[in-house]
Amino acid sequence: MIVAGNWKMFRGPDPRALVGLDAIVCPPYTRLADCVAAGLTTYAQNVHWESEGAFTGEISPPMLLELGVAGSLVGHSERRQLFGETDVGVARRAEAALSAGLSVIACVGETLEQREANETEDVLRRQITALPQDDRLVIAYEPVWAIGTGLSATPEMAQDAHAFIKSLLRVPVLYGGSVKPDNAAGLFAQPDVDGALVGGASLDVDSFRAICQAAASRS
Ligand code: PEP
Repeated sequence: MIVAGNWKMFRGPDPRALVGLDAIVCPPYTRLADCVAAGLTTYAQNVHWESEGAFTGEISPPMLLELGVAGSLVGHSERRQLFGETDVGVARRAEAALSAGLSVIACVGETLEQREANETEDVLRRQITALPQDDRLVIAYEPVWAIGTGLSATPEMAQDAHAFIKSLLRVPVLYGGSVKPDNAAGLFAQPDVDGALVGGASLDVDSFRAICQAAASRS
């Protein structure tokens, strides 16, 4: 079971409060070094495909490795929706990070309109087949309508989507979308849910710890 906390553009908790927790943290770039120094398994929230160059605002795989960062998220729906990232760009980011030696959590998921139009599997197939197969690749299934809304997918909906993703790519699949201490155990009880990518609840140390404990009791 893998639990990762995405702090988004929030400062987040004191990394020292998380020492000893079996989890990945994804802080904003300015807090990566603090999290690494506290001994946490630390991932960036995004990574560029080039090693260096005229790419204002981007960070490269070697730069993250130099800081002691272990991996990166790619393709978060906020990157896709708010910053125009495409399947092709997300795949390039994933490939470059993996070949540099970073681990990658690649986020996929459908919008509410796509789910209501019965397009969930088509969307997931398009997003997943763009990605490389690699031992250090993990997928996070994050239905866009469940992110930050308090509307989590039911355990059965998550299980169906995870089983479909695993029929396309043999990798661990985390669930993300309003995971909280009170719904984590139900999600983790599903056979194809291999952990969680947690946004809002990862900013609160007690909530994040409770989710990590729910994952540990399923392991
Ligand atoms: C996320 O940001 O990846 C996420 C799942 O957010 P939340 O848990 O707040 O829905």
